Amino acid sequence: MPKKGDDTKKTVRPKRTKTLKVSNQIPPKRRREIERALDAHEPGRPEWDRLSGAKQHRFFGKRIKPGFIRHIEFPLLDVKLGDAWPTPVTIIHGHRPGPTITITGGVHGDEMVGQVAASLLSQTVFTGPGRPLDPEMMAGTVRLAPVLNPPGFTRQRRYFPDGRDLNREFPGSETGSTTGRVAHRVLEELITGSDFLLDLHTAANGRDNLPQVRADLAHPPSNRIARAFGIEVILDSKGPKGSMRRAASRLGIGSLTYEGGGANLADHEAVQIAIHGILNVLRSLHVIPGNAARPKFRLLASGSTWVRADEGGLVDLFVSRGSFVETGEVIGRIVDPQRPSESADILAPSRGIFICTANNPIVTPGTPVGHLLPVTRGVKLIRKGLDKKTNRLIVSGSKGEPIWREDYEVEEIMIEGEWSGGGVDAEWQRDWQSSSELEHVEAAAEEEEDAD
Ligand SMILES: [Zn+2]
Repeated sequence: MPKKGDDTKKTVRPKRTKTLKVSNQIPPKRRREIERALDAHEPGRPEWDRLSGAKQHRFFGKRIKPGFIRHIEFPLLDVKLGDAWPTPVTIIHGHRPGPTITITGGVHGDEMVGQVAASLLSQTVFTGPGRPLDPEMMAGTVRLAPVLNPPGFTRQRRYFPDGRDLNREFPGSETGSTTGRVAHRVLEELITGSDFLLDLHTAANGRDNLPQVRADLAHPPSNRIARAFGIEVILDSKGPKGSMRRAASRLGIGSLTYEGGGANLADHEAVQIAIHGILNVLRSLHVIPGNAARPKFRLLASGSTWVRADEGGLVDLFVSRGSFVETGEVIGRIVDPQRPSESADILAPSRGIFICTANNPIVTPGTPVGHLLPVTRGVKLIRKGLDKKTNRLIVSGSKGEPIWREDYEVEEIMIEGEWSGGGVDAEWQRDWQSSSELEHVEAAAEEEEDAD
């Protein structure tokens, strides 16, 4: 280590010097698994009889007539005494029959993007005559539940008041913990009866996610809507144990998680991309008229790598979500205000795109500062999709996208590897949570495979 007051600048190479497991494609075994699953899934006949007489939609004992919208108060707890945590559910029931798509936000109470997006979709600017979700024009049903954790929303916390993470408690139980009971009820009443589930999230406190979709690509209906979302980055994962998405997939419900932005922020771009993606899915399922917009390319990723600090102090990060970097590029500099003349650079371990970056500057050795999707293929194409000034990926939906592209025209770029670092969402969370919440976070961290 240089002495105090030394004017030397130290360049710190990432300690993990072993070769990153990166190659051109999703691993052959996984690829075969996905192909087999898609081959075995033949709809055969039309999935929804759009010509038969429209039926009333039922939700929580209420009936909604074809072509109507109803706002229903759905209590998350079955109680006579105390707070039942009522949450609003808007049902937009199309004039003609079709699939039921449930859109949820605020499973984590401090994640605003989904709560804003799902709320906007239930307003007349979207549901009025001639608007995208005009029930008169729709074939199918949309259920919007923007605030699945009302006490967390009020307290601006990720967790329920018992310190549990709703997205780790599914399927839950009627007689279990408080959050487990909520999970049980949400699964029984809101998720069951849906054909598709779109669950909207952001990064946890202290970081910022590039808008992206996560889905089990070997589950045909989930694969279908993940592609239909019309976004560049798709991570192939089953979802953490106990997550709503995983529980829904088990019931045969096509499900995905959308991630965009960070906690506590109503990130306008992330909201815009979420709405763009939801409307794309609805168009592609022929629930609403029009063609779904498609991106120029898709990054189908089965692996990623976390870039971590190897020194402590404050990090000045030169990259943000979507930044494209070259191997060895300096992506940030760590300074220690108590030894102001010294610094340590953080280098990119490989060429790739940051799908998540830290926005809290405090680091200790091992603190992740970014989540990198290593890229070895399709580099030219990806470069064309970058903002010239900032070198960041322009995500479809942030600036309006052409709608004439066919699916076969979308270049698919596979990224092979391993999800390194395990439950890093929980890990980053650790610093910002009170100790009463820590137990659950730590328990979850051991099992997690990704961060939604
Ligand atoms: Zn979340």
